[in-house]
Amino acid sequence: MRVGIGHDTHRLEEGRPLILGGHRIDHPRGLVGHSDADVVCHAVADALLGAAGLGDIGEHYPDTDPRWKGLDSTRLLAEVVGRLHAGGWRVVNCDVIVHAQEPKLGRHKPAIRANLARLLAVGESEVNIKAKTGEHVGPVGRGEAICCEAVTLIEPAAPAG
Ligand code: MG
Repeated sequence: MRVGIGHDTHRLEEGRPLILGGHRIDHPRGLVGHSDADVVCHAVADALLGAAGLGDIGEHYPDTDPRWKGLDSTRLLAEVVGRLHAGGWRVVNCDVIVHAQEPKLGRHKPAIRANLARLLAVGESEVNIKAKTGEHVGPVGRGEAICCEAVTLIEPAAPAG
C-alpha cells in the first residue's frame, strides 16, 4: 500500500462561484483561481499523485496553460484517477479536512462525499469529509481563504503474482 498527502489553498472573493468537491454551494463569495479553484479536488488529486509517485498537479496541469482556464476540477481529478488506474493502482480510501470559516459545510458534506466516492471509484464509506473553521484567526478565520488537506491510500488493483 502507498499513502499520499495533498494540500491546497485558494483565496475567497465576492461574486465568484464556490465549488467544493465538485459541489456548487450557494454563497456570496467563491474561490479565485485559474481553474474553478476547487480546493477539495485539487488536494485529493495531489494526494493521489503523491501516493503513486507521479509528482503534483502543478506539473500536470500548469496554471499558465490556457487549456486549464476555468477547468471543472472534477475533470482534473477524474483524469488523475485514470492515470492511477492505468498504472495498476486502485484507491483504498480518502480522508479530507476542509478549513473554512464560512459557509458552514455540515449540510454539504454528503454531496461532497458522494462526488468524491464516484470520482475515486470507491464506496462512500471509503471517503470521509471533515470541516473545520479557522476560529476567526489567520487567513481562513478572517474569511480570506479556504484550505483543504487530503490523505489517500492506494494499493495495486490486482494482487502481485
Ligand atoms: Mg488549487
